[in-house]
Amino acid sequence: MDNIISAISTLTSDQDPHSPLCAYIYDLQQLKSHASAMVNALPSNCELYYAAKANPEAEVLEALAPIVQGFEAASGGELNWLHECQPQVPLIFGGPGKLMSELSQAIDLNIDAIHVESLTELRRILLLCQQKQRHCRILLRMNIALEGIEETRLTMGGKPTPFGIDVCELDSAIDLLRQQPRLSNQPLVELVGFHFHLMSHQLDVDRHLALMALYFSTFNTWCQQYDLNLSLLNVGGGIGVNYADPQQVFDWSRFCIELEQLITKMHMNKVKIRFECGRFVTAAMGYYVMQVLDIKKNHGQWFAIGHGGTHHFRTPAAQDHNHPFFILNQDVLAANKQGCSSTTASTLNDVNTPTLNNQQVTLVGQLCTPKDVLAKQQYVQKLAVGDYLVFTHAGAYAWNISHQHFLMHAAPKRLFM
Ligand SMILES: *Cc1c(COP(=O)(O)O)cnc(C)c1O
Repeated sequence: MDNIISAISTLTSDQDPHSPLCAYIYDLQQLKSHASAMVNALPSNCELYYAAKANPEAEVLEALAPIVQGFEAASGGELNWLHECQPQVPLIFGGPGKLMSELSQAIDLNIDAIHVESLTELRRILLLCQQKQRHCRILLRMNIALEGIEETRLTMGGKPTPFGIDVCELDSAIDLLRQQPRLSNQPLVELVGFHFHLMSHQLDVDRHLALMALYFSTFNTWCQQYDLNLSLLNVGGGIGVNYADPQQVFDWSRFCIELEQLITKMHMNKVKIRFECGRFVTAAMGYYVMQVLDIKKNHGQWFAIGHGGTHHFRTPAAQDHNHPFFILNQDVLAANKQGCSSTTASTLNDVNTPTLNNQQVTLVGQLCTPKDVLAKQQYVQKLAVGDYLVFTHAGAYAWNISHQHFLMHAAPKRLFM
């Protein structure tokens, strides 16, 4: 809270009094300690990659580079960006519909592994490696049945989806790999393991452990069945954030302790187990701040209109939830600035504006669409024009998933603490 107050003070110190605040604040220190704690808790044969699509800001990548084992790219654009920003960090590349040019780029960059999403993609990689006479490592991304596993709000597998290879095509995939021409008795395209990412928004430790157990048993069965000697299992990301109750945090350390026991029990100690998490790594370190422009009552309900909206911060609209927030009253900020009052707030309040006391209010942005809602019917103790709405957990799938050009509003300020 104190660091957010000081960040807002910094952002407003040179502010044009006619331009109220709208900003993303990222706490890189918080990010680094959280990511370090995640890595340190992992069992010894496990490693953490960061799924960059959650938040690919250069500053975020720089903060994470010394902590995580590598980055996951989900497009050729990301692959280029990640390589440009942190050329020394190992990369992996997944996602459906990869272009030939993107596969070629991945092979040329000699990345750690390509995650193969279909037989067609496998054939393209085999062709490219033969043409180039270059080696590459792959994982087969598989879509397996999820019998007995509880689904989350966002499940990408165990049912018809565009993600991963159907189990009934695994025979053909293994055949294609075995039939490929070899270079000095080495396969050009080397199968190093399997990849699973079947669920996102996972909030339950036991359910996630059950999912891991399913991945481990499937991995072991296939290694035996196809007589494969594989060194790597990518178990995806998908650890969730409870936006409805952010105090309820996925207990990563208990998960890791029980994971270690599961690894021993299921004889997975010799296999490298790789996580590729996005949301859980970066969500909590981001804050989206809107200064309140207007407060009005309409058909019996109160609305507070903030400077900004879902064109900057689509997360609540995309997830259809009330986003967690707190209010920073302008007088608290003014007090923090040691006597110098907030000129923007006084400009906003130069006409008579309503103040809410102990009311329900819907927090919206400036867009001309009823979907521009960040939180509905929220109880507030006190809210006035000029106050700051601080939305927490805005560090993942936030700015970069938003339709930033809609209505041509200015971009938010950005501050990396
Ligand atoms: C998006 C994605 C991730 C990261 O998911 P989170 O829910 O953000 O942890 C990991 N792997 C794949 C294949 C993905 O598409």
